Amino acid sequence: MSEPVLRVEDLHVYYHTQRGPVKAVDGVSFTLEPNARLGLVGESGSGKSTMALALMRMIKSPGKIESGRIILDGQDVVRLTPDEMRSVRLNQIAMVPQGAMNSLNPVTRVRKQIVDGLRAHNVYMSKPEMEKRVNDVLRWVDLDPSVADMYPHELSGGMKQRVCIAIAISLGPKVIIADEPTSALDVVIQRQVMETIGRVQEELGAAVILIGHDMGLMVQFVDRLAVMYGGKIAELGDVREIFREPLHPYTQLLINSLPRLADKGELQGIPGLAPSLLNAPPCCLFHMRCPHAMEICKSVTPPAEEIRPNRVVACHLYEGAPTFAAPALKESVS
Ligand code: SF4
Repeated sequence: MSEPVLRVEDLHVYYHTQRGPVKAVDGVSFTLEPNARLGLVGESGSGKSTMALALMRMIKSPGKIESGRIILDGQDVVRLTPDEMRSVRLNQIAMVPQGAMNSLNPVTRVRKQIVDGLRAHNVYMSKPEMEKRVNDVLRWVDLDPSVADMYPHELSGGMKQRVCIAIAISLGPKVIIADEPTSALDVVIQRQVMETIGRVQEELGAAVILIGHDMGLMVQFVDRLAVMYGGKIAELGDVREIFREPLHPYTQLLINSLPRLADKGELQGIPGLAPSLLNAPPCCLFHMRCPHAMEICKSVTPPAEEIRPNRVVACHLYEGAPTFAAPALKESVS
């Protein structure tokens, strides 16, 4: 297996409030190989978007990366200065944020928005070179170069999202984070945008982290899936194996709640509410909703363990299950 392009080790990100710390990301570890596609799923408040912001070093006060390492292509970005980090963004890691298409400046033509993005990362070229770069990145995302002369209000939702993807990939990053990249688009455009992201990823040889809660989209797009709950990874493994046999009770309920044709329109949700992460005590934060909860679950945090090759689960039900030696994963997931 090739060297991971990204290695996240025991990452903790807290938001400090007057009532105490909100542990939005609480001991997350995973690795990402070049060209790989990893999905991060979970309910609102599970920590997945905070995770994305942490990878970009864009956590704002009162949030803070408390501890852990984010090794991107050999360097720990947690320890970089703001100036060093600015050159890493777009060059090595880039994000298409949630609602990205609404972040475009409505009174600025697309060309200037792409050029401004490049200049903000200290990329200076001659005018013809810059023009070529703008045309190239628009073509990468299946847009005609004439779009460079247009204002965002002249574009459809799908075209605006493609412009945002063009800005994100304009420097050929090694890791692309896509945070709910298709949430405001209709199903046909969603599919086209995901195909574009997939093709661009392959052409760049980049890895992708797809963040969202649409399990159907995940199974179509990613190779590996990390299911987040309460700021932690509940289950991590091959996406098809997880769908075939989900092991963590939360993953089981998540997959059971997917609509099926036979259900005749009756949807099954997951009972109960997402946990508060404020002053979260040691326990399994899912115990109030879990059909298999035991006494130990109320007071002891279940460790994330590799309970079979390439499958990590954090649940007391599996404690003592034989573990397997899969060095790359074993060493990367705490
Ligand atoms: Fe359920 Fe306990 Fe497993 Fe948590 S640790 S998912 S409460 S069985």
